[in-house]
Amino acid sequence: MRSNRQVSPGFYLLEAELPIRPDRIPRAGQFCMLRSWDSIPVLSRPISVFDAQGSRVFFLYKTVGRGTAIFSRLNPGDSLTIQGPLGNGFPMDLWSNAPGRIAMVGGGAGIAPFYLGAKQYRGAGCTVDLYLGFSGAAFLTDEYRDRADSVTVNVGGRITDEIDPTGYDAIFTCGPEIMMKALWEKCKACGVGERIFVSLEARMACGVGACYGCSKQTAGGNKKVCKDGPVFPAEDVL
Ligand SMILES: Cc1cc2nc3c(=O)[nH]c(=O)nc-3n(C[C@H](O)[C@H](O)[C@H](O)COP(=O)(O)OP(=O)(O)OC[C@H]3O[C@@H](n4cnc5c(N)ncnc54)[C@H](O)[C@@H]3O)c2cc1C
Repeated sequence: MRSNRQVSPGFYLLEAELPIRPDRIPRAGQFCMLRSWDSIPVLSRPISVFDAQGSRVFFLYKTVGRGTAIFSRLNPGDSLTIQGPLGNGFPMDLWSNAPGRIAMVGGGAGIAPFYLGAKQYRGAGCTVDLYLGFSGAAFLTDEYRDRADSVTVNVGGRITDEIDPTGYDAIFTCGPEIMMKALWEKCKACGVGERIFVSLEARMACGVGACYGCSKQTAGGNKKVCKDGPVFPAEDVL
């Protein structure tokens, strides 16, 4: 682990070394299973890839319990086991002709996948508007501004009030379920419900689809959040 700094009370940005095969470069929305302990807690913790630069990988995490509290006490040079990248990530194949216009809507730690997302989708020629919601003070907004066509920030209110979903070819969201559901309802009311993709959170054990611990009922049958997701079309899971 190379660095681990607090970016806001309760939020940390961690940088680590991860030798990445060229065919496994992390995509926005993919995650890694992290652990920095031997046996207790038993399970590794899933954290989205915030950024990837060569063999450097970054994670933005919020301390909520035992595992993330242990992460927050890591110092440069401490060992960290990283398994991944895992899961499907946000779709990259939505446009058959010209690249589209995308809104990325994140709340709290749910802003994490969209730092990499803004870089990758703009790199593919898309226009990317970011909508970042914070319940406390905003953080890393200058860094996000450097990567997106526009950034809208809401502190203490509802980020979903800030967006007109009709202007977008696709809308990606990650964060509190209540926020993602409100956005989905808004998209449906505007007649664009099929354009929204959500990144689901679930308690995970293996992270690779072997244990079925994160199974979720969807319109297409039972799906594993870790392997079939964490990104799903909203209409399949909400
Ligand atoms: C695919 C995926 C990507 C994620 N990416 C990020 C990220 O980039 N940054 C980040 O901060 N967090 C992320 N999370 C959430 C993160 O995995 C959990 O916050 C973490 O596992 C909590 O571990 P803990 O040991 O600190 O908390 P625990 O001690 O395990 O739990 C503390 C409290 O948090 C609740 N909780 C724990 N995990 C979850 C969860 N997944 N969903 C809902 N409630 C939970 C528990 O019920 C408990 O009340 C992601 C989760 C998933 C599934």
